[in-house]
Amino acid sequence: MLTKATAFAWFNNAATLMTEHKHELHLLDAAIGDGDHGINMDRGFSKLIHNLPEMEHLCLGEVLKQTGMVLLSNIGGASGPLYGALFIKGAATVGDAEALDASALLTFLDVGVTGLITRGRTEEEDKTMYDVWAPVLRKYKQSLEAGMGMEQILEECVHAAELGMKATIPMLARKGRASYLGERSIGHQDPGATSSYYLVTALYESIR
Ligand code: ADP
Ligand code: MG
Ligand code: MG
Repeated sequence: MLTKATAFAWFNNAATLMTEHKHELHLLDAAIGDGDHGINMDRGFSKLIHNLPEMEHLCLGEVLKQTGMVLLSNIGGASGPLYGALFIKGAATVGDAEALDASALLTFLDVGVTGLITRGRTEEEDKTMYDVWAPVLRKYKQSLEAGMGMEQILEECVHAAELGMKATIPMLARKGRASYLGERSIGHQDPGATSSYYLVTALYESIR
């Protein structure tokens, strides 16, 4: 179940991972972008963690929506509005539920990711964060249908996210700053796909 407590754990884990991998995300973005993705993600999630005590009295849906707002305005760049859309659109599916079971979490992620790609006008193989979320959603659906529990589903999703992230290396970027490089974007892992992998990892770690 994703409860308020597990959501808070998810964000704390994510903040730790973004801080730990700030330099890696910087280097990836320096290679095919403007080098600020590490700073952007670290700033967004640090601010979120800073704000969590104020969210203590909110219901789960409100927590997820507020999370989207904080990420939207504090990550900045191209990725802030995309991560913001994921949480804000996803939160609209939660209503006044106190916890999301595996099926409700899928709905949250599915609708959230649809918000992300609507905002980014992106499709698979554009070499973006969506190249992580698309295979994660496919794996999630497959695992749920196979009757797995949430922990096992999310473990499968972490593997799918890692493969999706690595699959961006040979891609030619068609969205975002990296697309300005054309052929020179080939051979580099996408920074946003990498931070999305950490976000999926943080979710798994909070449930297990
Ligand atoms: P900026 O490029 O404005 O500096 P960031 O460095 O924070 O923003 O984020 C870059 C990441 O955002 C990219 O690696 C990519 O994954 C993602 N991104 C950029 N544009 C799009 C888009 N249109 N759709 C989906 N993801 C995108
Ligand atoms: Mg950047
Ligand atoms: Mg930038």
